[in-house]
Amino acid sequence: MHHSARLTNEQSTAGFKTIQEPAFPTYRGRFAPSPTGPLHFGSLVAAVASYLEAKSRNGEWLVRIENLDPSREIPGASKEILNALEIFGMEWDGEVIYQNRRSEAYQAALTLLKSRNLIYPCACSRKEIADSSIIGIDGPVYPGTCRGNLPDTARARALRVRTGNNLIEIKDELRGLIRQRLESDIGDFILRRADGVFAYQLAVVVDDAEQGVTHVVRGKDLLNSTPRQVHLQQLLGYSTPAYMHLPVVVNTQGEKLSKQTRATPVAPVDPVSQLIKAVRFLGQEPPAELIESNIVSFWEWARKNWKSELIP
Ligand code: GLU
Repeated sequence: MHHSARLTNEQSTAGFKTIQEPAFPTYRGRFAPSPTGPLHFGSLVAAVASYLEAKSRNGEWLVRIENLDPSREIPGASKEILNALEIFGMEWDGEVIYQNRRSEAYQAALTLLKSRNLIYPCACSRKEIADSSIIGIDGPVYPGTCRGNLPDTARARALRVRTGNNLIEIKDELRGLIRQRLESDIGDFILRRADGVFAYQLAVVVDDAEQGVTHVVRGKDLLNSTPRQVHLQQLLGYSTPAYMHLPVVVNTQGEKLSKQTRATPVAPVDPVSQLIKAVRFLGQEPPAELIESNIVSFWEWARKNWKSELIP
C-alpha cells in the first residue's frame, strides 16, 4: 500500500526526486536487561529513564534480553523481568529479542571482521595477561601478545579485535565528552570467548544496529565500554547512536546494585510508589499527590514532565 502511494506521488511530481522515507523512526530506544536475576531497583531506574526518554519524544522503546552467557542466566528471570515491566505499565514496541537466539548475526559480524583481518585468535590465559600487562581503566590492558600469527598447534582460544591508538571521542548527553585510546587504555578486546560465548561488546553493537536503535540510555557503569562499541560500529560500518549514561544506584556499602551484590528485587506490589522512587532518583520532582494515583496517571504525569536535564 505504501509502495503504490509513493508511486502515485512520484508520478504527480515527475521530474522531482522522491523523498526517501527514513528506514527507522527518529527515536528508537531500548532496555537491555541481563536475566541474571529479577528486576531490582537499579535496573528499574534504567528501564524508567530509557522508557521516558523514548516516550517523551514519541519514540519507540524496545526490550532485549541479554542472555549470552548460559552460565549466568537464572531460569525464569527473563519472564520475571518482562512480567515486572508489564506490572509497572511499561509497554515495549515490537517483539522482545533474546540474544541467545542471535548467534548467526554475531557470527556474520565476526566473519566480516575476519575477512578484513581485523580479528585474531588469542591463546593467552587470564593469568598470562594479568602477569604481563599494566592495569588500564577496565582491568589489565591486553598487550597484544597474539597479534602476530599463532602457530597452528596453539590451543584454539578467544577471538580479539584489533584496536588502534586513535582518539575515540563520544559526546554523552549527561557526562559530556568521553575520550579513550583503545590500544593503550583497553587493548585488543575479546569478541568471542574461548568457550564460544559471544562477548557483550559484539552482541550489543550488532543488535543495536540491526534493531535500528538511535539512542542508548543505560547505567554509567557501561560508560567505559562505549568507546569499544564505537570502534566496532566503525569497523562494521554501522552508525553510532546517541548515548546517555545514568547515575548508578548503589547500596549502603557504595556497591552498584546488581544480582552479584544480592540487590533485593523490586516487588511490584506497590508499583506507583516504586516508580515515584525511581523518578526521584533521576532528579524529577513528582508532586506529593502522585502517590495516590494509579499507574496510568503516573505515566501521564511522567511523560509530560520528564526533564533529562534534572538527572543528577
Ligand atoms: N545487559 C546489560 C546490563 O544488564 C546492559 C547493556 C546495555 O544497556 O548496553 O547491565
